[in-house]
Parts: sequence; C-alpha cells; structure tokens
Amino acid sequence: MIIALDGPAAAGKGTLARRLASKFNLATLDTGGLYRATGLRALESGGNPADPAVAEAAAKAVRADDMANPALREERVGAAASIVAAIPEVRAALLAFQRDFAHHPPAGFDGAVLDGRDIGTVVCPDADVKLYVTASAEARATRRFKELQEKGVESIYSRVLQDIEQRDARDMAREAAPLKPADDALELDTTALDADAAFQTAADLIARKLSRQPC
Ligand code: C5P
Repeated sequence: MIIALDGPAAAGKGTLARRLASKFNLATLDTGGLYRATGLRALESGGNPADPAVAEAAAKAVRADDMANPALREERVGAAASIVAAIPEVRAALLAFQRDFAHHPPAGFDGAVLDGRDIGTVVCPDADVKLYVTASAEARATRRFKELQEKGVESIYSRVLQDIEQRDARDMAREAAPLKPADDALELDTTALDADAAFQTAADLIARKLSRQPC
C-alpha cells in the first residue's frame, strides 16, 4: 500500500505520517528532508541555492546519511529547500529515489507513506490513498512557534508566520510540480484538530477509501 500525504509547511504531515505508518505497518519517507538536504549542501558549498547548476550538483550529492543531520530542521535550511525545490533539474534528480522507496520499501513493511508537496500529483500518482493535509497559515505558525519555543529556539511569531506564508507562496506558484491537491485527494483540514483528532480523522478516511476499493 502507498499513502501519499501532501500539504503546506507545518500542516502536521510528519506526525501524521509516523502514526499512519505504525497503524498500517508502512515505511515512511519525509521527502522534504531530501529537499532540505539539497538546500543545506547548496548553502555549505558557498554557492547560491537559486543557481540551477549549484542546486543540481547538491541534489546529486545527497546521501541517506544527510537525512539524520539536525541542521536540516533550521528555518534557513527550510527556506533554501523551497528555493532549490523550484528547479526542475533538482526535482528530476530526486524523483527516482522517491519512487523506488514507494514501490520497494525496506523489508518487513507492507508499503510506504511518503509526505511532501507533489507525492499524489507527480511522485506516486498511482498511490492507493492520497491525503491533502492543510490548516490556516495562523494555526500552522502557532504550532511551529510552540515547537521552536519548546526547543529553546528564540523566535518571533510574526516572523514565523511570514516565513510560512513566503514558503507557501513559493511552493504553490512554481512551475515545476507546484503544491496542489491531486484531483483524487481527500482533503483534511487540521486547523481545529489536535494531533490525535487529525490521526483519527485520517485513519477513518483511509479505512473508508480502502473499503471501497476492489480486492
Ligand atoms: O516539508 P518540508 O518543510 O520539510 O519541506 C521543505 C521544502 O521542500 C518545502 O517548502 C518544499 O519547497 C520542498 N518540497 C517539495 N516537494 C516535496 C517535499 C518538499 O518541493 N515533495
């Protein structure tokens, strides 16, 4: 089984992916991590992440180990990720790895759940279930701000909101695989839901969808 989870920044996709993975015995791939690793490599090379040659070389150099780097979660890396993600050569360089993971997950799993921006539209248009997880920009900024506070990272709410709005605008307006719901995606608005309620709603939507599919 393949579950595609798409949606804007800080909508709660990561937490949902982990909980769905454990319920349905699926391997998880946080595809944003691949773009973050590309953005970080581009920054560390001293080049401009918006330069297609710099960004493509960074994408081709990404290794599995990069995904464990705590620096990937930094806001500057998220911003660089959304810049490199608009470059078609970067998306092409990362596509095969994502498709291969979805169709050949590690041994012992019954499938995979991938979260990102274009999983249902480009990476796995054949996914068994597609969820488009969203929430108001204010709700997402409030959650991200709380997370940063809990980690002891000094931040300003209005700045966090601005970063989220900028990232949404870049991800939705780009020509290459823009963020949008697939035609057959189920929409889940988590503005008024906590993580437990979001998980329960998603699990119910998936169970209903799977029960309508032929065996
Ligand atoms: O989800 P996360 O915030 O880690 O993603 C970082 C950036 O990577 C996003 O803002 C987006 O530009 C890009 N991305 C993408 N396609 C994906 C996953 C992430 O373009 N499938």
